[in-house]
Amino acid sequence: MAKKYVYFFGAGCAEGNKDMKNILGGKGANLAEMAGIGLPVPPGFTISTEVCDLFYKSRKRIPDDVKKEVGKNLARLEKSLGQKLGDTDNPLLVSIRSGARASMPGMMDTILNLGLTDKTAAALVAKTGNPRFVYDSYRRFVQMYGDVVLGLKPVNKDDIDPFEEIIEKKKDERGIHQDTDLTADDLKDLVARFKLAIKEKTGQEFPEDPMKQLWGAIGAVFSSWMNDRAIAYRKMYDIPESWGTAVNVQTMVFGNMGQDSGTGVAFTRDAATGENVFYGEYLMNAQGEDVVAGIRTPLPISELRKDDPKSLAQLEKIRHTLEKHYTDMMDIEFTIQQGKLYMLQCRVGKRTAFAAIKIAVDMVGEKLISEKEALIRIEPDQLNQLLRPIFDLKEKDAAVKAGRLLAKGLNAGPGAASGRLVFNSVDAEGWGARGEKVILTRIETSPEDIKGMGAAEGILTARGGMTSHAALVARQMGRVCVAGCGELVIDYGKRTMTVKGRTLNEGDWISLDGTTGQVIEGKVNTKPSEVLQVLIEKTLDPAQAPVYQTFAKVMAWADKYRTLKIRTNADQPDQAANAVAFGAQGIGLCRTEHMFFGAGKIGPMREMILADTLEQRKTALAKLLPLQRADFAGIFEAMNGRPVTIRTIDPPLHEFLPHEEKEQREVAGTMGLPFEKVRERVESLHEFNPMLGFRGCRLGIIYPEITEMQARAIFEAAAATKKKGIDVEPEVMIPLVGHVKELQNQEKLVRRVAEEVMKEQGVKFKYLVGTMIEIPRGAITADEIATVAEFFSFGTNDLTQTTLGVSRDDAARFLIPYVAKEIYAKDPFEVLDRGGVGQLMKIAVEKGRKTRPTIHLGICGEHGGEPSSIEFCHLVGLDYVSCSPFRVPIARLAAARAALLNPAAAAAKAKTKKPAPAQKTVKAKKPGRKK
Ligand code: PEP
Ligand code: MG
Repeated sequence: MAKKYVYFFGAGCAEGNKDMKNILGGKGANLAEMAGIGLPVPPGFTISTEVCDLFYKSRKRIPDDVKKEVGKNLARLEKSLGQKLGDTDNPLLVSIRSGARASMPGMMDTILNLGLTDKTAAALVAKTGNPRFVYDSYRRFVQMYGDVVLGLKPVNKDDIDPFEEIIEKKKDERGIHQDTDLTADDLKDLVARFKLAIKEKTGQEFPEDPMKQLWGAIGAVFSSWMNDRAIAYRKMYDIPESWGTAVNVQTMVFGNMGQDSGTGVAFTRDAATGENVFYGEYLMNAQGEDVVAGIRTPLPISELRKDDPKSLAQLEKIRHTLEKHYTDMMDIEFTIQQGKLYMLQCRVGKRTAFAAIKIAVDMVGEKLISEKEALIRIEPDQLNQLLRPIFDLKEKDAAVKAGRLLAKGLNAGPGAASGRLVFNSVDAEGWGARGEKVILTRIETSPEDIKGMGAAEGILTARGGMTSHAALVARQMGRVCVAGCGELVIDYGKRTMTVKGRTLNEGDWISLDGTTGQVIEGKVNTKPSEVLQVLIEKTLDPAQAPVYQTFAKVMAWADKYRTLKIRTNADQPDQAANAVAFGAQGIGLCRTEHMFFGAGKIGPMREMILADTLEQRKTALAKLLPLQRADFAGIFEAMNGRPVTIRTIDPPLHEFLPHEEKEQREVAGTMGLPFEKVRERVESLHEFNPMLGFRGCRLGIIYPEITEMQARAIFEAAAATKKKGIDVEPEVMIPLVGHVKELQNQEKLVRRVAEEVMKEQGVKFKYLVGTMIEIPRGAITADEIATVAEFFSFGTNDLTQTTLGVSRDDAARFLIPYVAKEIYAKDPFEVLDRGGVGQLMKIAVEKGRKTRPTIHLGICGEHGGEPSSIEFCHLVGLDYVSCSPFRVPIARLAAARAALLNPAAAAAKAKTKKPAPAQKTVKAKKPGRKK
């Protein structure tokens, strides 16, 4: 049987369904599904995403067999309606829309009212008796077709749309201000002027043959898969180019047939706050693009009670049907044509992080979904939005009292943002790239603005509603957005914004409160989010913090289903305490060298490095001992019995000495040494490749007195903590081990010191000695290393560097283009390279467990806080991940999702693993550092 490329829907049948997104795209699959469950969908057909691939392979031509199939489906559509494309009695008009597997709102092209020509327009006037409607539809069609298919567009960023220019001219000539004041004759004249402009500026003739229009439009929609904004959007959201778009050809229904017609978009719940209310907007006597493009500010859906109560009641019913059917919050588009409601689209609605979490939690309460499903629906990185700052209320109130409140718009994207005014996307990108915080301010945004919106802290528009392009995209990107702020007068040419008689210029500071819709002149400082106020600052009562409560519920569910423990990377008591507040179960990496930069420590550290003899070195180390001991005691107390992994010194010693002459002279002065000596020592420590040089365990092997001091500080602090009645179990971690003998050397020393301290202090405590696995030889000989190590912690920052042979500090110059060229799908220092680094981890896990089944395994590289890498850690059977304190909530959720999405991995681990040694709750991790 020949392959099927076209799927019919509506008129009592549906060849596709919602699970066929891969070939029908989201729009096509959901149109089929809605038709299948009996909702009123105008009939049509979907040309599959596979044709997109064929289209590009055939040098942007639609293959003949597909053309034939489209022809058959068109005939079926015409027959079902009793209309015909191009017919001069009863013409069929269709829309041509894109629809990829993942939603890419506004990124690709759409053409409405296709089939209109001078002849069919006349026929439609005769049929409807409504010339204004017909010529309004016709001028929209010519405008869209001229732009999308024939390429008549603005040339420069400050230019206005050439079609809009013609409309404005016409309105000036007629002395009118509103589009709605244009008469049928005006619109007919506009059609003629548009066609002329197309011919003059592009050299192309507007086609009067509807079939030619159809193939042109289908080709243009497939072509729009590769336009700049679609490419940029795919990059931003990791959508593979190979997916392609489908094309939907659907019978037109008209919201612009008079006051009994209209169009709207709605969410089955509030997409910004997640509240369980029907949330939407509509315009009477308008076509869909008017609502989304923000050209007229639409009315809230509740107003439809006055305009068309019957359709509102029907929509309310459909809202519940859809939520039950899809068990999710849906985003819908509808049109009312002369009192009859039609559904044009439904898809799972985009939402803010607040809304995503609230909706998931509420739907569990409403028994629509399970806890597990709720966890799978929340993207771990969305939690970031809950942790982001909000305005300091006192400061904001003061600004408002001082008369700095400029205007109030729609609270389209919650959060707080301050930045400098820019008026176009290119500038937003440019300013953003040089580190400026900007607020992108537009009359309305369009898909062309996607990159600038991404670069801005916040987005402000003068026109458009809660479902306008600006609002939708801002919410999805997590940008603060105030939309539809009608009081603003924006002049792109002069780069000014005037409001209440005040004129602000490009570069002036403004602040947006995306939660209330307020626009404030100047900068307003921010303060921590509700979650942080409860957990970290402890200034807010959880009972008064609804956002926190929802967050806490999700965290509790995540903890129920995850099998990975979560530690944190921390080397200060306050960091440790923050991490514990976020749910960390221990410290997975305490980088002791960070402590050497603390008050009073860098002096003795430098003295130690500059020492000429062992005696001098020991004298300096003796000064460091009590300081390190106090640091460790602080951490043990903050962790209150949770496990703490402490790593012995790791970076090359030159990092502790200054490299500039001025500072070297200061050091020499403070230490009473000749400047030359300091300079010479710095030079002698110089290495061509310090990352592969004298660092890690190599330091402790050549200068055992350093490890000895650190071990003593750790164990004396442990003894003192134990004496205070606080449980403690230090885990001493030796870095950069490649050969088991390196570890044996250091382990012997550490164990000797532990025994000495226990004897001296008269206390016993448990402790572990283990290693980082961060160079390939360590991973490959993990079976040998595990004869000594009681735990492994994967240092994937170094393991990535050493496996790929790519310097972690110098890679940006080529890694960014590498990612752009898709040589690596993601920056391997951010997302674990499963195929390379991951394979070494797998070997190390298997070999390590074979030698020592109870070995404890974790990760402390930056990847320990990144969701996809966390999933990999779950898959290879690690016991914990360790990440920076503020990523702990993300790691908790990512670990739960990894367990829920890969249940077999958890079961396999439980089978192969013997009971682990007594471990307390775990957690710890901390941001990476440049060595
Ligand atoms: C690592 O290499 O992954 C690691 C955690 O150590 P550092 O970043 O301190 O080198
Ligand atoms: Mg390292």
